[in-house]
Amino acid sequence: MADVRVRIAPSPTGKFHLGTARTALFNYLFARKNEGKFILRIEDTDNTRSEGQYVNDILEGMKWLGLHWDEGPEVDGKLGPYFQSQRLPLYDQHVQQLLEQKKAYKCFCTPVELEAERTAQQQAKQPPKYSGKCRKLSAETIAANEKAGQPFAVRFIVDHQTVTVEDLIRGPVEFDAALIGDFPIVRSDGAPLFVLTNTIDDSLMGITHVFRGEEHLANTAKQLLLCKALGFLEPQFGHLPLIFNADRSKMSKRKNPVSITDDYRAKGYLPEALINYLALLGWSSGTDREIFSLNELVKEFQIERVGKSAAIFDPEKLLWTNGYYIRSLQLGDLATRCKEFIKDGEILQKVEEDPEFFLQAIQLVQERLKLLGEIEGLIEFFYREPQYEAGLLIARKSDEERTLKALELAREEIKKLKKLTLDQTEFVLRDAADDNGLKAGEMLWAVRVALTGKEASPGVFELLEAFGKDEALKRIETAIQKLKK
Ligand code: GLU
Repeated sequence: MADVRVRIAPSPTGKFHLGTARTALFNYLFARKNEGKFILRIEDTDNTRSEGQYVNDILEGMKWLGLHWDEGPEVDGKLGPYFQSQRLPLYDQHVQQLLEQKKAYKCFCTPVELEAERTAQQQAKQPPKYSGKCRKLSAETIAANEKAGQPFAVRFIVDHQTVTVEDLIRGPVEFDAALIGDFPIVRSDGAPLFVLTNTIDDSLMGITHVFRGEEHLANTAKQLLLCKALGFLEPQFGHLPLIFNADRSKMSKRKNPVSITDDYRAKGYLPEALINYLALLGWSSGTDREIFSLNELVKEFQIERVGKSAAIFDPEKLLWTNGYYIRSLQLGDLATRCKEFIKDGEILQKVEEDPEFFLQAIQLVQERLKLLGEIEGLIEFFYREPQYEAGLLIARKSDEERTLKALELAREEIKKLKKLTLDQTEFVLRDAADDNGLKAGEMLWAVRVALTGKEASPGVFELLEAFGKDEALKRIETAIQKLKK
């Protein structure tokens, strides 16, 4: 395919969210696969709702995910500017063209009139559609209205016809234009509307393919009409399936965690994992393979393998994927990423003082870590004596007396050792339990709790090795005193 150019065109009216990230990813993959260009355009014509902080959030989120764009904000390109708010004269020029060619007209209907029209249609059980009243206004009336300072919208004339969207994912989808009616392309406050600006920019930026959410399908029908009227080449469209929650409710900004930076990056999802998971929201490789890096996705991705049916968002699966990626990270890399999630000043200071010990701690919890944000809770006991109730030291089917004996025995055996190496400690403790009529399990349970304050933790012998003799003895002593109280 020659000169593929695709884009992601988010509106900065909220945080960069999961759905936009998925659309960005599919466009990115399509561009890279076809050696084309991936463009980022900020659709910020809605002054009242667009905010600079959301632009930053989008740029940051895209970079974090590794979805680097070839043209757009911060990256030079010949067809900018890439902010719609800086392109207003271009839209105006095209509106004038449509007005002159009588393909659009000024509409002076007030919001009250339009509302009354809609209510009447509702009562008559007719689909809502603009009556076309202002289409017939004479040149004199228009001039007089304008002179009187009456605000007007600009509407695009839609003649009866069938509009067919040749969707690359859904096949041909037909729309009866008679149901669309003359739609506005400029609001009565002068702001150009999405269907217009989006169509103009896609054409002027040489966009060849538009992949976006299914919620835009009806807009596409309007945009094809605009393309024709403006003499533009039509891009090819593909509408991605909507993303639903497991209970089939629509994902919503208010009810679901959808912000890439706040809900995913900040909690400790890895961008690799999120990319992998998002790719599978609508696309499948056709095999049961589930793990793909971004580069592998570029190789494997085929737009033909994007499904039509709704994609179901499964947070458990995403978490699993994240754990998988965490387990596959090199220790040093994982430690660097984890460090960013340590907020406790005292722990952070100790981490910096002894990076080796931090690596050991990370290595011991890597297996159970599913979110980087859980790291502090998982390694806290390495840095601080644990708090726990004495009762926790007693293993199931054991009792206080036996537990005390087990801990005292462990203390004596550990004292005899010069250094706590994995093999030796295991051998000595198991033997001691055996020789003294104790189960290894009840001794190891008690030692684990003494060291960590937790019921589940990395292996006891690994922990003893990491802590070293002095710290291990100190914690076992504390446990013994707790039991004696
Ligand atoms: N600004 C639109 C949105 O965020 C862009 C839709 C499109 O990709 O064309 O939904």
